[in-house]
Amino acid sequence: MMWYTHVVFGVLFYLIAVLFGAPMNFLDIGMAAFGALTPDIDHPKSYISTKLPGGTVMPRFVEHRGATHTIEAAFLITALVGGLAYWITGSYWPAVAFFIGYISHLFADTLTISGIKWSRFSKFHPKGKIRTGTKGEGLVLILVTFTTVMLFAYIVMPEETSKNLGWAMLIALMATFAIIGKKLKRLK
Ligand SMILES: [Zn+2]
Repeated sequence: MMWYTHVVFGVLFYLIAVLFGAPMNFLDIGMAAFGALTPDIDHPKSYISTKLPGGTVMPRFVEHRGATHTIEAAFLITALVGGLAYWITGSYWPAVAFFIGYISHLFADTLTISGIKWSRFSKFHPKGKIRTGTKGEGLVLILVTFTTVMLFAYIVMPEETSKNLGWAMLIALMATFAIIGKKLKRLK
């Protein structure tokens, strides 16, 4: 999946956690988005590798969609990044958010035709039907962005959103295309 699809998945997964009691704030949403981008540090041309200092080092040692795309890496890298975030903020929620984002990445990549192996210690290798960078991914991106916007509206304004559901959905649909319209044009 493209990096922006991963960001939306990360935010969606975190907002679902908010429904179950995770705090609603932009630091934690940002950490979930960061976690959702992190597994692709194994690819030299990924968004995160080109943005992060030293981001091109890792791809020399690991294959793409290998070691970093496992549940073990999710725990290990969360311990590192989340530990640092805890040290700075004094809250464990950034670590939880990062982990949720990381898992959302593994889930999203599972939807693609090559899929991922979730663990080094297991043969479990689920695959989906989506080809990265195609209209199929575009459809997933539209659905996930729309759901994310609706959920965001519901969390921020629960009464207004449920009372005016039709309007809320129409506005959410427009917001969806305002957010990802340009990205959709790039898909083949
Ligand atoms: Zn990936």
